[in-house]
Amino acid sequence: MIYCVEDEQNICELEVYTLQSVGFEAKGCSSGKELFAELEKELPKLILLDIMLPDEDGLTVLRRLRSDDRYANIPVIMATAKGTEFDKVKGLDCGADDYIAKPFGMLEMVARIKAVLRRCEGRELKPANQVIQRDNLTVNLLEHKVKVGEEDVVLTLKEFEMLKKFLLHPGIVFSRDKLLNDIWGYEFTGETRTVDVHIRTLRQKLGSAGDLIETIRGVGYRMAAKK
Ligand code: CA
Repeated sequence: MIYCVEDEQNICELEVYTLQSVGFEAKGCSSGKELFAELEKELPKLILLDIMLPDEDGLTVLRRLRSDDRYANIPVIMATAKGTEFDKVKGLDCGADDYIAKPFGMLEMVARIKAVLRRCEGRELKPANQVIQRDNLTVNLLEHKVKVGEEDVVLTLKEFEMLKKFLLHPGIVFSRDKLLNDIWGYEFTGETRTVDVHIRTLRQKLGSAGDLIETIRGVGYRMAAKK
């Protein structure tokens, strides 16, 4: 399944029709809202995402995708109105896999989609991707093992889940509410202070790597962006 997110109905229909005619399953979404509703039903192999959309623009949608564990690995191709616009995209480091400048031909679109699918094949399955290294911090997501330098660090499940979330989305700020919801669950009735307490112990346990977790005043926490 490939989702085409595009509010101009005739373009959207053409994209979907073209993809179907070359053998892909494809579905059109006219907004980010519609896309997220579809994602609840079925995860696609790829998303073709227009930048210019009503309500939420494509970059906002992309950021939401990348900050959600369920969707973070879905390949995304951005459709930009002009070539220059992608510089802005790059600057924002939103994590698109490719971009295609409008107006584009349908053959070009299919070729780009196939190229990205080839490149991203097995993305979630590669064992190499399960080990994340930042400075002297090494985290094995599969085995739930954390090391700072040569030292093993023992984390609680919540601490590990928080660290994993940060590591998978470097540079993205998570609010206390978001962390509470994602890690403790919506039913949790505690205060956002809980997050601060866990961040403090997590930093202490990480020792010299603790500084990788940055406090963004008045907003929340994030993993330092990659340099
Ligand atoms: Ca559009």
